[in-house]
Amino acid sequence: MKHYKQIYQYSALEINGVLNDLRKEYDIVRIVDVEECRILEVTADGALHYGAQCFKIWNRETRCANCTSYRACMTHCEADKREKLGRDRESIHSIPIYLEMLNGELEMCVIECVRFIDSDPAGETDSAEAGEAIATHDVLTRLYTQEKFFRETRQRLIDHPDTDYVLAIGNIRNFKLINKLFGIEGGNRVLVGIADILRSECGPEEVYGRYRDDRFALLIQKDKFHEIDFSNHLQKVRELVESPIFTLQVKLGAYEIEDKNLPVATMLSHADLAVNSIRNSRCALIAHYRPALLERQMRDQHIITDFEHALSHDEFQVYLQPQVRSDGMILGAEALVRWVLPHGKILHPSEFLGVLHQSELLSHLDAFVWERAAQMLSRWNDTPLAPLYVSINVDPSDFYYIDVPRLLSGLCKKYGIAPQRLRVEITETVLFDDITRQSSLVEKLHSQGFLVEIDDFGKGFSSLSLLKDIHADVLKIDMGFLQGESNTQRSNVILGSVIDMANHLQMGVITEGVENREQVNNLVSLGCSLFQGFYYSQPLPMKDFELLARENISQFAADR
Ligand code: C2E
Ligand code: CA
Ligand code: CA
Repeated sequence: MKHYKQIYQYSALEINGVLNDLRKEYDIVRIVDVEECRILEVTADGALHYGAQCFKIWNRETRCANCTSYRACMTHCEADKREKLGRDRESIHSIPIYLEMLNGELEMCVIECVRFIDSDPAGETDSAEAGEAIATHDVLTRLYTQEKFFRETRQRLIDHPDTDYVLAIGNIRNFKLINKLFGIEGGNRVLVGIADILRSECGPEEVYGRYRDDRFALLIQKDKFHEIDFSNHLQKVRELVESPIFTLQVKLGAYEIEDKNLPVATMLSHADLAVNSIRNSRCALIAHYRPALLERQMRDQHIITDFEHALSHDEFQVYLQPQVRSDGMILGAEALVRWVLPHGKILHPSEFLGVLHQSELLSHLDAFVWERAAQMLSRWNDTPLAPLYVSINVDPSDFYYIDVPRLLSGLCKKYGIAPQRLRVEITETVLFDDITRQSSLVEKLHSQGFLVEIDDFGKGFSSLSLLKDIHADVLKIDMGFLQGESNTQRSNVILGSVIDMANHLQMGVITEGVENREQVNNLVSLGCSLFQGFYYSQPLPMKDFELLARENISQFAADR
């Protein structure tokens, strides 16, 4: 078998020319979609059509496991084989290719080139031909395997050309965490439980199967796809795990099939895109595919490909937003990252943090920002800026990839700074998920001299027990949770109580997001003495912050 690193890519408009060239050399040349086990025809205007099933052409129901093209597609390498077709022997050469469809998407398929060699007068069967068909059922869940699902789906679409269908993917949120918390067996029980629910709710008209590790796929008639019913089924799934610390959630992405000649793999990737779009949402359970999601995916893809280059070429810059005492004195700053593109456009964290988080790259960026913050602090040593601290953001996922206390201590040693000057902000919402682990991490940070701030307090589902269990030093109240015109009196009662509580717990309090003098006055009267927000300053590039802070410090020195 020859090996080729590069897989050829042909557009739907040029592929027929390629096939015609090959036909000069071979007796039969055709494109095969191996996942669906069907001949693929491409019309002159570039549209795809799914033709006959391959094995019917070969007249061998058991060909799949021995299929040269299946092997070529799975290994991404060209493959050769000799087979028998009726009385003839033939040699088959299978070339895996990417077919670029009119919308720009790539579909992996195989060009099968067949040459008849000689006839076999005795008509003997070749024992090497006797292979098993590919597995049709998943061993664990007894649902259709991915391959079987693809083929059954195609058959259904061909058999019912006038029926509208929805292709849906159910995705278990945080499946990795289930395996971590309850072991592989616990994870398996969840998968089997979901399969049982699917079996009991689906009839013979639906096609369903397991699609990759923690995903399930379902083809259902459009007029039977009622969101309310599905929401109820998804609620039922929750009951499969009884745990005070973990809520099982399955989310659904739906693609209403418009073009039945799309490869099933593409339809599934549309449903996948839809489900991914709500993957981090707490409430949304069902999402529909929209073409805009594809654009977003391409943009996200750019972010992922450009990230490492941008990191090593200093495109990420650390901005500083002052944290200010009620009398106006700057005590420190929060480090907030910006991506400054080569042509000058500045991307804000909301435009790239999510995708970096999903692709497990965020910890690289965070480690970079922390180092930059430590460098700044060390530059301020022996200058008037020496008393200032910098708060860095630590994403909870960082703790999975980095030994955060060790790395931060290392930075303090490397740059000769006291740990108290590098504060650590951790978001309240995620702290909530795994309190025991987080509280021991906070303890570890404390023991090494760092101050820990609970970020965004009030933005998510705040928990008072969190304050009991996590001994943080500072509570950062998010202004957003009390914004709006109505009910200022009630808001004030809540704000005042939170501030009192923090004071009684010997925690500092910062309110962030303050935009005007009234808010500051009000918060001062409620007992808050430290602020961060546009009222004082936007986040600033390092040089601008240094100028502002120097001015501020000399002004306070002069006033004394
Ligand atoms: P955050 O930690 O809550 O940071 C405060 C955000 O509020 C900043 O947005 C800041 O510009 C904005 N802000 C400050 N004052 C005001 C105000 O008066 N009004 C309003 N409406 N907004 C204000 P930014 O810089 O876009 O950052 C957004 C979030 O991205 C941050 O929220 C933080 O969670 C995250 N982030 C930023 N930099 C980093 C980083 O280096 N690492 C990690 N893991 N997350 C970061
Ligand atoms: Ca923060
Ligand atoms: Ca915050």
